[in-house]
Amino acid sequence: MDETAQIGRGQSATGSGGTVARLVNATKTFGTGDAAVTALDNATIDFRRGEFTAVMGPSGSGKSTLMYCQSGLDQLSSGQAFIGDVDVSTLSDQELSIMRRSTLGFIFQSFHLVPALNARENITLPVDLDSNAEVDADFLDELATVLGIEHRLENLPSQLSGGQRQRVAVARAMVPRPDVIFADEPTGALDSKTSGELLAYLRTAVDDLGQTIVMVTHDAVAASHCDRVVYVQDGRLVDEAQHPTVDDVLNKILELS
Ligand code: ADP
Ligand code: MG
Repeated sequence: MDETAQIGRGQSATGSGGTVARLVNATKTFGTGDAAVTALDNATIDFRRGEFTAVMGPSGSGKSTLMYCQSGLDQLSSGQAFIGDVDVSTLSDQELSIMRRSTLGFIFQSFHLVPALNARENITLPVDLDSNAEVDADFLDELATVLGIEHRLENLPSQLSGGQRQRVAVARAMVPRPDVIFADEPTGALDSKTSGELLAYLRTAVDDLGQTIVMVTHDAVAASHCDRVVYVQDGRLVDEAQHPTVDDVLNKILELS
């Protein structure tokens, strides 16, 4: 079986050396001529299994572009993006969408829930769309309890608070047991208390379930929950650190801006 087929079947995407996702000389340019913007500039990075990584940098530095190109939501202008050992540019649209539903999980600032579906239906949607997969109901119940949304599963998103909606989005990302979750400013729309609870939950998912998470953020407190922080400036990866404190991150941001 070739690697493409394996990813399509939602099997483990661990590549050589425990690397779950990898960019090699990744460049992304938007627009042409005078209007061209290099959002990602020759970035090379590995994201390792079981690690909680923060991608930090000022607004407009290329964090979201890095995440979108890494996860196959957008295409690089040059260089390569791998999930496991699979170059995402070699996948068809259908293979990409299967990979995004089964091998990857996503959490966005704006939740991206389907308004007409209740919380439970939103959580199971990626698995329900995959004819070869079944929802692990026990795991869903366990997650809902840990996340404190076990009594809200029959509610529509409009009947939930922002924090509850984001917990639904976290459960939706986790239920397919993806190899890696990509989160883009997941705490961006939350107050500091709710945001702290969500980060603590993501930390637990990494520690207890071995979930790999790559989180784009510009929040130093959010980054301080991570095992590793990588810094982006003008589309380039300029530095990284292990187990950063809030002060470490704040100092680095001041230096970069
Ligand atoms: P960040 O997430 O760090 O705020 P982005 O990755 O969204 O940064 O953007 C990086 C740069 O690329 C910015 O200059 C932004 O304006 C530009 N950019 C992002 N997406 C597009 C797009 N679809 N079209 C044109 N320019 C874009
Ligand atoms: Mg962004």
